[in-house]
Amino acid sequence: MTDDRGVHDVLIVGAGFAGMYLLHRLRAAGFDVLAVEAAPEVGGTWYHNRYPGLRCDVESLEYQYSWSEALRRGWRWSERFSAQPEILAYARWVADQLDLRRDIRFNTRVARAAWQDAAHHWIATTDAGETVSARHVVFATGALAVPRMPDIPGIDRYQGRLIHTADWPHDTVDVAGQTVGLIGTGSSGLQVATALAGKAGRLKVFQRSPAYSIPAQNRPLTDADYAAFLGNLPALDAMAMAHRGGIVCPLPTSGAQAVSAEERAQTLEDRWQHGGAFTFLSSFNDVQTDAGSNALVADFVRAKIRETVTDPDTAEKLVPRYLFATRRTCVDTGYYQIFNREGVELVDVSTDPIAEFTETGIRLASGVEHPLDTIILATGYDAMTGAFLAVEVTGREGLTNAQAWAEGPVNLLGLMVAGFPNLFTVTGPGSPSVLTNVIRSIEHHVDWLTRCFEDLRAQGIGVIEATPEAQADWVAHNNAISAGTLFTRTPSWYCGADIPGKPKVFMPYAGGLPAYRQKADGMAANGYAGFALTKAGVRA
Ligand code: NAP
Repeated sequence: MTDDRGVHDVLIVGAGFAGMYLLHRLRAAGFDVLAVEAAPEVGGTWYHNRYPGLRCDVESLEYQYSWSEALRRGWRWSERFSAQPEILAYARWVADQLDLRRDIRFNTRVARAAWQDAAHHWIATTDAGETVSARHVVFATGALAVPRMPDIPGIDRYQGRLIHTADWPHDTVDVAGQTVGLIGTGSSGLQVATALAGKAGRLKVFQRSPAYSIPAQNRPLTDADYAAFLGNLPALDAMAMAHRGGIVCPLPTSGAQAVSAEERAQTLEDRWQHGGAFTFLSSFNDVQTDAGSNALVADFVRAKIRETVTDPDTAEKLVPRYLFATRRTCVDTGYYQIFNREGVELVDVSTDPIAEFTETGIRLASGVEHPLDTIILATGYDAMTGAFLAVEVTGREGLTNAQAWAEGPVNLLGLMVAGFPNLFTVTGPGSPSVLTNVIRSIEHHVDWLTRCFEDLRAQGIGVIEATPEAQADWVAHNNAISAGTLFTRTPSWYCGADIPGKPKVFMPYAGGLPAYRQKADGMAANGYAGFALTKAGVRA
């Protein structure tokens, strides 16, 4: 595709919900924008992830763009928590409504990008060797985009069907009569297990760490739901903007230990019956900061698991021992119940780990073999940093992104990395991102970037970059905030613990979306404090 449009104002990498909205905003603001997308369609993670049972863990009415009333009135969700096909259909519908596809190059993956210091622009090279030039590059590549294969030896030896949840085949996967092994019990594993239980002849769930999961209590959305939603948009938006997770949920006013045992149990039961993890987490204001409060909430969930699973041994294995919600809390539709079914077996590999793949299945360290017709890997992602580091990015003076992030991701506001002028990441590490309804975080970043590009244009600024000092301050601020939470006490993908050799740094900004927005907007209003600005045509 070597691009014949000259130097674009902005190159957007990725056409998921972030890239799509950014393309729309910047195009409307009169910029020359090109988006490139590795997949043949919009939707990002919702295009690639299509495993059975996949649903969003944020409610449909909130997991959609809030910036356009026309879009909110024009699309009708069928269920409270949408399944993947409906979310992908929504992304495609938005692309049509906004006529986005004419500026998206599909089936195009950026392999490299190099800053041209004299010319003040980037040259991006695709994996087909074609080049695109742009003054600014925005990575809208998502926090959960690079699937992680487990570090278990012998994977190539296995002769059966091997499928990663994040790369689910487009053809039908028929498991009827088969013995299926599932490795991984995070959000993806729980959902696919629930969908396949009863369909596979036998399902073996290989669990290394149990997950806390809250029932979705999913149901169809009714006319009354829609009337309540569309009739109250400003109030609902205000509530979401005030919530640290960008969720429509009243702010909790008391700690879990500040109320009586009866009141606490009732509150938790009400939230459990209401469904969804974000609202459950908002039962009390100290669940993620006070270990005593956390234990009380954890015990409530543990009791629910023991009540649900009839075999006491299996129930005990399913009960997590780590602090509640310090790893991503799952949302399920009958997950714990599948272990009461014939043909579903929980294999605890915490003490007897999977040693290797064999030609026919899996062998545990103890030597026990599990012959399997199909193995499903729900082993997650190289989260938050994987997609950016998958592209070889060379900034000022030969500095690469791999070098800049060798000891963990560093940046200013999760938006810019010092040494990489005119390059931005959307919902990257250092921003609230995965700790929020990511659509709200995306919308804030896109609005911030649009204003930034407009300001730069108005002021004749050719180059913007994070200063090393402001970046160091932001990283220190991030670390101080996460150190005040319970998150850092549990190894998780939030801190790279799941990938050998990955720096162990808590990556998302844990101060909440309202506080983050205030800081980011404040810096912009203050003349982009923390960023160095160079006039166009002047050598930086
Ligand atoms: P994940 O949460 O990282 O879970 C990976 C699982 O694989 C863990 O249970 C892990 O065990 C296990 N695992 C990895 N290597 C293993 C090995 N060698 N042996 C045994 N088990 C192994 O990945 P995910 O479930 O794909 O979810 C990632 C994130 O994507 C979620 O946290 C969520 O943010 C998002 N997501 C959201 C939805 C939704 O909206 N409903 C659905 C799917 C995903 P350990 O825990 O012991 O490492």
